[in-house]
Amino acid sequence: MSAALETLRENVRTWLAGNAPKDWREAATHEAFVTGQRQWFGKLVAAGYAIPHWPAGWQGGGRSLAEQKVIYEELARADAPRLLLSFVSTYHVFATLQECGNDAQRARYLPAILEGETWCQGFSEPGAGSDLAAIKTRGERRGDVYVVNGQKLWSTMAQYADKCLLLVRTSSEGAKQAGLTYLLMDMKAPGVTVRPIHQIQGDEEFAEIFLDNVEVPLAERVGEEGAGWAVAQATLSSERGLTLMELGYRMRGSMGLLTDLIRKSGKAGDAGVLRELGRLSAQVDATCALADRFLHNRITGAEQVGDASIVKNSYSRTLRAWADLGVRVGGLLEQYRKPITFGDLNTGNWMADFMNSYAWTIAGGSEEVQRNIIAERMLEMPREPKSWVA
Ligand SMILES: Cc1cc2nc3c(=O)[nH]c(=O)nc-3n(C[C@H](O)[C@H](O)[C@H](O)COP(=O)(O)OP(=O)(O)OC[C@H]3O[C@@H](n4cnc5c(N)ncnc54)[C@H](O)[C@@H]3O)c2cc1C
Repeated sequence: MSAALETLRENVRTWLAGNAPKDWREAATHEAFVTGQRQWFGKLVAAGYAIPHWPAGWQGGGRSLAEQKVIYEELARADAPRLLLSFVSTYHVFATLQECGNDAQRARYLPAILEGETWCQGFSEPGAGSDLAAIKTRGERRGDVYVVNGQKLWSTMAQYADKCLLLVRTSSEGAKQAGLTYLLMDMKAPGVTVRPIHQIQGDEEFAEIFLDNVEVPLAERVGEEGAGWAVAQATLSSERGLTLMELGYRMRGSMGLLTDLIRKSGKAGDAGVLRELGRLSAQVDATCALADRFLHNRITGAEQVGDASIVKNSYSRTLRAWADLGVRVGGLLEQYRKPITFGDLNTGNWMADFMNSYAWTIAGGSEEVQRNIIAERMLEMPREPKSWVA
């Protein structure tokens, strides 16, 4: 490692030692957790470590891939909380506006994100998840606004969001994809109702959004009317690939928790457990390497259709195996721990992590559908029969 990288590592480590929250898993309520997330994000922004993947000129942006890795590794090493609340804002909104937004939108929204404005993503609907082009929420153009009516589903942290990346149908003519339009919606606008969804592990991490004659100004459209499908690809590519470098390094960083657990549970001499740990640790390394390659290809313009799907599937499968081993090694006693369970790994409760791990095999596009993308669009295998698609 170069001297410059060593210095960066030292600086990040020292800063984290004095600033990383220690007791974040013990937050008494979800509101306390969210407040903690806002404070932690503010601190990271001020220190220049919140958005290393943004370009130079932004607070701490313009980092090379190697520098980003160092920052993510150190965050994981310090066991600092992941920025769950700002995830959509700093990754998905940024990628979307950077690729497809206009200057006015970037000037208004990107600085606001750094000041704490949070976003959710309103793509999925009842009947439009894997088949996203089946979206029915209507956006009707009336003068200088779109009037939006419909329902969105599974919107992560929507109950805490200020703004929403919204995909609506503005036309039923022609191909389903051609009638979609991409809007930036204010969650406080009249007609927006958010209802949290209760999940298996006792959390309400995502929510339904009901839209009743919500007015979205024309200026808040990203790209042209009817070009929403192409804009959504920028968001999805971020969701399926860009975010996974941080997550991969987080998982690698938290391998220490798993090894501690194995030691604590007296299974350090169990050849089967050790073999599994070895295999898992190779899988974690492979996921990090895939995420690195994805980002390198993206930066150099060599990204291919399917690259992001490969990274996402590798991450979700590894995460599931990671949490599964934790549950088996930890046994019943570990399940009595009652942490805050928001998040998909490292909550402090292996059973919660295990249940959450399934979320990643669905969120951002299910594992099966990613495999279809890899098979059909990357490997050019025959397309599945039409009857499969809803
Ligand atoms: C934790 C979590 C967070 C999420 N956050 C958000 C968010 O913030 N914003 C948002 O808009 N959405 C979000 N989602 C929604 C997510 O994108 C959808 O759940 C996902 O796209 C799958 O859609 P679906 O649930 O409608 O499943 P369906 O499309 O109904 O699929 C059901 C099953 O059928 C399989 N299947 C469907 N079609 C095919 C096919 N052609 N070939 C093979 N198998 C197929 C799927 O793989 C799946 O196993 C989130 C989901 C989760 C779990």
